[in-house]
Amino acid sequence: MSDLPLAPGAMIGILGGGQLGRMLALAAARLGFDVAILEPEPDSPAGRVAAHAIRGPYDDPRALEALAAVAGLVTYEFENVPASAVSHLIAQGVAVAPNGRALAVAQDRVEEKTFLNSIGVATVAFAQADSDETASAAVAQLGAPVLMKTRREGYDGKGQRWVEHVADAAAAFEALGGRPVILEAPADFVRELSVIAARGRDGELAIYPLAENHHENGVLRRSVAPAAITPALAEQAERIAAQVLTGLDYVGVIGIELFELPDGRLLVNEIAPRVHNTGHWTMDGCEVDQFEQHIRAVAGWPLGPTAAIARVEMLNLLGDEVEAWAKLAGEPETRLHLYGKRDAKPGRKMGHVNRVSPLADPRR
Ligand code: AMP
Repeated sequence: MSDLPLAPGAMIGILGGGQLGRMLALAAARLGFDVAILEPEPDSPAGRVAAHAIRGPYDDPRALEALAAVAGLVTYEFENVPASAVSHLIAQGVAVAPNGRALAVAQDRVEEKTFLNSIGVATVAFAQADSDETASAAVAQLGAPVLMKTRREGYDGKGQRWVEHVADAAAAFEALGGRPVILEAPADFVRELSVIAARGRDGELAIYPLAENHHENGVLRRSVAPAAITPALAEQAERIAAQVLTGLDYVGVIGIELFELPDGRLLVNEIAPRVHNTGHWTMDGCEVDQFEQHIRAVAGWPLGPTAAIARVEMLNLLGDEVEAWAKLAGEPETRLHLYGKRDAKPGRKMGHVNRVSPLADPRR
């Protein structure tokens, strides 16, 4: 374990070599740190900007030991890191942030909602099932329609389907692979919002203005921030963020996805124990962005200010949309962020743009 606050010149380990790891590595470099990436794939977006890249599966003891040999502090860029990887690193004397409990809660949708409800944070009504019979019983209990999701390893709308009738429950359960599922009552939301927040080693909190998010086929398409909201809604979101962060004894940046109901109440959809796609707007819209904030938090530095300095429309560049880079680079209001992925497969997140405008622009 390294002494905290971690001094510039130290190496920070990151599990995961995707775009979030890349943007974390760039932010860490700005603060004088070196980064070591552990990632199974060769030539990863994060590995290519890091001082050190280790290739191997996340649960490979040799790869984890190679990481522990160069980094006394390790964080992660995605929530499906195996729990065994975290315990192996801790056994090597490495500090891992966010902690294993945050990871465990975020990896399982039933654990997640149970935790949220236990600290007084509202979610949709839910039930769980692990067989055809219990799936049918759970749909009957909640009342169709319900959204069936695998408990673990779903992302970007994958691993979920609507069940319109009790009679369809068993087929849906089998179609999702016969794995344990959660069944969720429909959220009758007027908007999807998110709050990005951070907690430091000393319990200090930093909460960003909310983003309003628009999805297509389960994938984030567009965020607008700061979202137009009432002070009461902002206060509600800040209270939720504070409860979640302190309830998990969390260190680092978290993304909390919210449903805004017609009566103004917020429900939490899910929490991501990492920097988040709906926080990419902070790179050009806030005093200190989510990536630097995460590095500051895990390194035991003071958190930075989160106030908005611009209004931002963030658009993900999916698949071959990235080919418009030259045109986008020529637009004065557009900040281009490309992830260096070699292969523009359909729907793949290749980059994003932040379209900035003055905060108080009455035309928008
Ligand atoms: P998730 O993978 O849980 O983040 O869900 C992906 C998207 O599906 C969300 O952003 C919502 O648009 C939608 N969704 C998820 N859960 C529900 C729900 N219980 N009711 C209605 N829509 C939902």
